[in-house]
Amino acid sequence: MSKVLIIGAGGVGTVVAHKVAANPVFSQIMLASRTLSKCDEIAAAVGGGRISTARVDADSVPELVVLMRSFRPDIVINVALPYQDLTIMDACLECGVNYLDTANYEPKDEAHFEYSWQWAYQERFRRAGLTAILGCGFDPGVSAIMVAYAAKHHFDRIDSLDIVDCNAGNHGMAFATNFNPEINIREVTQRGKYWEDGRWVETAPHEIHKSLTYPEIGPRESYLIYHEELESLVKNFPTLQRARFWMTFGQEYLTHLRVIQNIGMARIDPVLYNGVEIVPIQFLKAVLPDPKSLGANYTGKTSIGCRIHGVRGGQEHTYYIYNNCDHEQAFKETGTQAVSYTTGVPAALGAAMFVRGLWKGPGVFNVEQFDPDPFMADLGAQGLPWVEVHDGDLEL
Ligand code: NDP
Repeated sequence: MSKVLIIGAGGVGTVVAHKVAANPVFSQIMLASRTLSKCDEIAAAVGGGRISTARVDADSVPELVVLMRSFRPDIVINVALPYQDLTIMDACLECGVNYLDTANYEPKDEAHFEYSWQWAYQERFRRAGLTAILGCGFDPGVSAIMVAYAAKHHFDRIDSLDIVDCNAGNHGMAFATNFNPEINIREVTQRGKYWEDGRWVETAPHEIHKSLTYPEIGPRESYLIYHEELESLVKNFPTLQRARFWMTFGQEYLTHLRVIQNIGMARIDPVLYNGVEIVPIQFLKAVLPDPKSLGANYTGKTSIGCRIHGVRGGQEHTYYIYNNCDHEQAFKETGTQAVSYTTGVPAALGAAMFVRGLWKGPGVFNVEQFDPDPFMADLGAQGLPWVEVHDGDLEL
């Protein structure tokens, strides 16, 4: 029996709350975020009196420490924003609490994410005998666990990896992002990057693209972007000669994005407006649709998976493992769309792996470092069934 503290009451936090509440391994649940009313709304929607709520500013280590000392959780599920990763990890160390998140640290004033900041906590978590589980959403998260599963069961050596992420859903809006707009726009407008022959190759944003076929969806133009799990995967699977990440974007979305950038609304540095400093991208977030609100009219599916090429028993093989998730089904179950759903389900399941003692150890871990089997065994029942295709055409 264990106590879990969820931090962040957005789209992903909503799904985590539903899934954790439905799992009897969690005896007590608290949901805390910057805006208490959002926590209360989610707790009421989940029902059953399972979730208590609190207000916390997760940028403040002292506030987090007070909250953790009073609730005494076994593990924190951090589904606030990547800006809060380090403060929450600091508070966990101070209070002897284990940690899990879904996105790696990013400083507010620099559109740049990498694991080095969080990997630097390795010694402190190890010495404290605490576990930190990094990147346990879908991508990063399930994507990396799928690679570990493939390496364990289907290959002696994996040579190339292409993570393919398609959102073929339609929310009926001219422009909206599927998760936090600020984080999303920072991610997709940066330069592309992939791993080849032992080094990183950089590209202009969206320079490399091709049509890929997604199961039950069909062909979609897919763009090579940099994604954070590539950094840990090439380290943990050193046989990889090439590792890339592809995401689909519609022309309408790309046009909006280009305009947003061209007119300066994607800027992350403060500008003076009527004597007040505002950050354009934060202002933009305030006027764009809340990703949580997209769910009600969202139709279609997401399809995310890994296309792998490698060798087994001296023979070359290909392997494609993926999940398709339906926006309407996700909304029916949790009141949020499939992008929040595919992130929240693995976060809740990863925390369950920890409390069941299956993913545990002193230190800081990326998800692919744990045994993928118990996680993959439960993933379908938790709402994200997966499919394997052996020796098909990877198109890549
Ligand atoms: P939202 O913006 O919907 O939710 C973020 C929540 O965090 C909000 O409730 C917000 O509060 C709260 N928050 C922000 N700052 C603070 C703070 N200083 N103190 C306390 N609470 C704070 O984002 P999403 O739910 O869409 O995304 C959540 C996380 O999931 C992000 O880190 C995102 O990068 C990650 N993600 C990971 C994916 C994966 O597959 N690995 C995919 C999609 C998202 P308020 O409501 O007051 O603004």
